Amino acid sequence: MGIPMLQAARIGAYIFKQHVTRRKRYPLVLMLEPLFRCNLACAGCGKIDYPAEILNQRLTVDQCMEAIDECGAPVVSIAGGEPLLHKEMPQIVEGYLKRKKFVILCTNALLLMKKIDDYKPHPGFTWSIHLDGNQVMHDKSVCQDGVYEKAVEAIKLAKSRGFQVSINCTLFNDADPEQTADFFDEMKTLGLNGITVSPGYAYERAPDQQHFLNRTKTKELFRGILRRGRGGRDWPFTQSTMFLNFLAGNEAYACTPWGNPTRNVFGWQKPCYLLGEGYAKTFRELMDDTEWDKYGVGNYEKCADCMVHSGFEASAVAHTVRNPIKAASVFLRGVRTEGPMAPDISIANQRPAQYVFSSHVEKKLTEIRRTKSAKHGPSARPAASAGTGEAGSQPTVAAE
Ligand code: SF4
Repeated sequence: MGIPMLQAARIGAYIFKQHVTRRKRYPLVLMLEPLFRCNLACAGCGKIDYPAEILNQRLTVDQCMEAIDECGAPVVSIAGGEPLLHKEMPQIVEGYLKRKKFVILCTNALLLMKKIDDYKPHPGFTWSIHLDGNQVMHDKSVCQDGVYEKAVEAIKLAKSRGFQVSINCTLFNDADPEQTADFFDEMKTLGLNGITVSPGYAYERAPDQQHFLNRTKTKELFRGILRRGRGGRDWPFTQSTMFLNFLAGNEAYACTPWGNPTRNVFGWQKPCYLLGEGYAKTFRELMDDTEWDKYGVGNYEKCADCMVHSGFEASAVAHTVRNPIKAASVFLRGVRTEGPMAPDISIANQRPAQYVFSSHVEKKLTEIRRTKSAKHGPSARPAASAGTGEAGSQPTVAAE
């Protein structure tokens, strides 16, 4: 699988320690969103639909370091928005590497060729290039022609400079198993270090709500893909074997939202990377005050179709720790892609969705304007139009 030995050993030791000390809830990967601004406007993205004043916000280097010091996760995945638009990104990466964290820098790669000299290869550092399939699939997914070509060029450049490079691939309901398997084969020939794959999550603010997968379709799609690659053994997936087994419908897991806690310009996001139902000021407050039992498949309508790695990878890892022989057997034989699927969690008693996006946006805007007015006086005006924040509105594209 596509995880370097050093990383696997250090993360394994961290998990072992959590289990020995009987820590009930612990983070595995800090999901850092230091900005929401992006230089693309993908139809399936639920992260860029904010007014300009919020898109202009950045987490500082100090805030990014405080986030990892607070939560202590061994891995940081930096997403956004587009992280390469953040001027201090090289310092943020360096700060995490100095703290001996594994850093995954997720990018659409449009700025990678311009910015690559700001970074150095390091065993703890991996570029994760967004690629949702072959040229046709990806350019359609990001709503812009030519992006696939630039991403592949960037992968080749980064590999030639000695970097570790993986791709992150989100699949929607129009994904074809044959084409996706061929795409993974092609990516392997580029010498990629890893492939992170996930079904798309239907963000309530995503402009395109038509192309998300439900659970049954997700499992069928992943069975179709994995059977074309010896149960997944042909490709260097970065995820655990048991997570792939879950995607193929052979396991039914409850999610572990605290496994990948999210820190962004609003604070610590409750309950997970995918849902913004509230924000905590500190990691401790997130862990102590979130009503975790109100979320997850079977508990909440917005969770019904979710099978995303940020929610379920930590569940798969915990299952692996408890069942090492079973996990080793799936690893050696490959994921089963035929036969009955594990019965899923019932959603009969889930609570209905609550829509709280606008109230968080309003609260944040008030806070930004109050800070600005305290700094520059009451006549200070917003630097750019606040926008409507309505789904489908296009973000202003800024190259920094
Ligand atoms: S199932 Fe878990 S990870 Fe997925 S949206 Fe719900 S709380 Fe978040």
